[in-house]
Amino acid sequence: MHGESHSAALEVLRDVFGFEHFRGPQQAIVEHVSAGGDALVLMPTGGGKSLCYQIPALLRAGTAIVVSPLIALMQDQVAALVQNGVRAAYLNSSLDFQGAMAVENQLRAGELDLLYVAPERLATPRMQALLEQVPIALFAIDEAHCVSQWGHDFRPEYRQLSQLHERFPDVPRIALTATADVPTRGDIIEHLQLQNAALFNNGFDRPNIRYHIAENQGNTREALLRFIRDNHHNEAGIVYCLSRKKVEETAEWLTRQGLTALPYHAGLPPEQRQHHQSRFLREDGVIVVATIAFGMGIDKPDVRFVAHLNLPKSIEAYYQETGRAGRDGLPSDAWMAYGLQDVITLRQMQEGSVASDQQKRIEQQKLDAMLGLCEIISCRRQALLRYFGDTLDHPCGNCDNCLTPPQTWDATVAAQKALSCVYRTEQRFGVTYLVDVLLGKSNERITRFGHDRVSTFGIGNELSANEWKALYRQLIASGFLSVDMEGHGGIHLTQEAKPVLRGEITLTLRKPVKAAARRRSKSAP
Ligand code: ADP
Ligand code: ZN
Repeated sequence: MHGESHSAALEVLRDVFGFEHFRGPQQAIVEHVSAGGDALVLMPTGGGKSLCYQIPALLRAGTAIVVSPLIALMQDQVAALVQNGVRAAYLNSSLDFQGAMAVENQLRAGELDLLYVAPERLATPRMQALLEQVPIALFAIDEAHCVSQWGHDFRPEYRQLSQLHERFPDVPRIALTATADVPTRGDIIEHLQLQNAALFNNGFDRPNIRYHIAENQGNTREALLRFIRDNHHNEAGIVYCLSRKKVEETAEWLTRQGLTALPYHAGLPPEQRQHHQSRFLREDGVIVVATIAFGMGIDKPDVRFVAHLNLPKSIEAYYQETGRAGRDGLPSDAWMAYGLQDVITLRQMQEGSVASDQQKRIEQQKLDAMLGLCEIISCRRQALLRYFGDTLDHPCGNCDNCLTPPQTWDATVAAQKALSCVYRTEQRFGVTYLVDVLLGKSNERITRFGHDRVSTFGIGNELSANEWKALYRQLIASGFLSVDMEGHGGIHLTQEAKPVLRGEITLTLRKPVKAAARRRSKSAP
């Protein structure tokens, strides 16, 4: 029996998809689901999740129902399947009434092996009634982290998927995600009722990706250009920026420097986006400069680098975005430059959103965790994997902290000065103002508030303005200070600041790197 289903699965892999061998845990997953078992699959981007449900869909009687949140992704998958001769279709808002009716008829007639459905549509009474009438091979829930409020991409429609198990208790379900921290994983199991499902955790490590995170040294664009020229001449890459304006400016600037750099964001006309995406996929050495609108569902194996010119809003977002590099397993880079302004902008965006207070708190914690990853002085990969509940028992040797251990310094006294300056100026000013006070720079505002007479005025001449700024950023990242959301980014002390001020703990921090570029060698990891 076991051998039989194995060979059947392998036959489908070869005959339908044209691959010789299963990858990693694919075979075990395919066999488990084909035999009617439930599964939760954690596998990094590019690991080959799709086959895990597509092959069981072909091996089992009836139609497999695939829930997927992204219309573009559905269309690509269905097109690829149809090309391989698989009977697949989708139902989503891009179809008109007649188109949807035609698909429904195919489903009723038993003419579909796979049907991709948007989550909000699956929950409709019409769809539920339809599903009651046909044999269902399995339910596949892609991007399963969308069910969790802890996930970085919560979609309320996903919550209704809990009904599937109640309504169709005999139909196997397979949930898949490439990004789930520990609480998110718990949420997926709870909300999708996967308590008895087999867990296939393929680990989150992407050993071929070299991580590099640096603070802004003023001219980020120059640093980016140097990084690309030194390491990725004529290779494909993605550069992420936070705003549309910055996307356009950066693409233009890189183009003027002689690179092929195309902008991509949701504000561009669809034809232009499509055009830039297809050039990225087809031509060599194209760089796409994009907001996060770009990347989901783009299957380009030889993206050699992903650069961030701004801080991502969470470790999951960082992991997912950097994960688009090196799907082919060859050495690739994840390069990031970030600054204090990113933290302030992201916090203001979060605060200005319509999300609930609870949601905002979660987002704030995620951003803090991301900052923590930036500021650590130990192996980044270990920290990244720890965040996802995986362990790596030795430093990776393929991240900036491993390759060039950061210099550290005893920042206790400086931190005391920085924190007490916040306190003496009544906890409502931003970093620039505080640094001026520490350096004893009198200006109209400072004299107006009488802060040229506080005890911390002019006590900070041992550090430069930039060094103080870096220190403040680290103090914020480490949770000693907190940025006010409303207003102008004034900062205040947190509970954690007290032991530092009292001299009860010492602080060892990363020494700010001087602008000198760190060249990397091209050796394999
Ligand atoms: P994920 O959804 O996990 O990001 P995909 O299912 O899109 O990954 O697969 C990533 C790429 O790997 C695709 O190009 C796919 O065709 C390819 N792939 C998947 N499984 C295999 C396999 N067993 N052998 C060869 N290529 C595979
Ligand atoms: Zn490392």
